[in-house]
Amino acid sequence: MKRKLLDYLSCPSCGGAIALAAVASTEDAEIMEGALECQACKRSFAIVRGIPRFAMLEKVEADKAATAENFGWQWQHFVQSDQLYEEQFLGWISPVRPEFFKDKVVLEGGSGKGRHTQLAAGWGARDVIGVDLSDAVETAFAATRQLENAHIVQADIYHLPFARSFDYAFSIGVLHHLPDPQAGFRSLASKVKPGGHISAWVYGAENNEWITRFIDPLREKLSSRIHRRLLLHLSKAPTAMLYLATKLVYGPLNRANGSSRLAQHLFYNDYLNSISKFGWREQHTIVFDHLVAPTSHYIQREDFEEWWRAIEAEDLTIGWHNKNSWRGFGKI
Ligand SMILES: [Zn+2]
Repeated sequence: MKRKLLDYLSCPSCGGAIALAAVASTEDAEIMEGALECQACKRSFAIVRGIPRFAMLEKVEADKAATAENFGWQWQHFVQSDQLYEEQFLGWISPVRPEFFKDKVVLEGGSGKGRHTQLAAGWGARDVIGVDLSDAVETAFAATRQLENAHIVQADIYHLPFARSFDYAFSIGVLHHLPDPQAGFRSLASKVKPGGHISAWVYGAENNEWITRFIDPLREKLSSRIHRRLLLHLSKAPTAMLYLATKLVYGPLNRANGSSRLAQHLFYNDYLNSISKFGWREQHTIVFDHLVAPTSHYIQREDFEEWWRAIEAEDLTIGWHNKNSWRGFGKI
């Protein structure tokens, strides 16, 4: 944990100021082991392996803990990086562009292995704080510790340990895995300063009926419950089908002159074309990601719009992403 993070912290229980109570070890700019303490209620929070711990898995509700555990395992296993992450991230937060991050204080709700925190820091944000409930914080910390404007915090998105101090908050592919997605969105928005902005990307209900009918029952009853290493191997079979379809059919048809109109008629074309450039490992991550989640909600456009109305967002842009998910961007 870098000392600069203290400027943004606030007690998740009472909102009191957080101070550094003890430093047991440091490495370069990072406090590796130590303790933080709320000046008001005196609750203390450990700093372990460089990461301030505001939520421990054993203390959160069972369904959230199960989700965090499975994704935590995933992001400690699939630690690869891909040059396509940048393009993919910009697709999820459109119309936001890299210039937008310049000098902003940014919060990421659900940072996984830290790939977006890393990009935002590289695009010149003043500070970026990536928050995750799961053990993925270990991977995210390792990926971002050399960046002086990147910070990783382990916390529950419903009880964020920050003051209302952010210019921009975003959450990509995380809210729909929470027991109450809208509550997570509201919590994130509550940390954005008036005049600041927020982006969110979630699975859509529309066009995903085949997933909710056929894949979801399998995921809920089976794949999210079996041993993760077994799932890792079993998920190679559907990945092989996906890989062959995207490499032999979707990618070539969409890219070739004359056949891209034909490709528009293919099943799930926009999405499968968008991932056709990814290699085996990234596609395997995507398949595994869908099968491992104990909780997934598929959100209707009108429900997503309601989230933004409820926080009274202005200058709102809500759009279809790959015709299977919703992205939104608005001003608080
Ligand atoms: Zn407190």
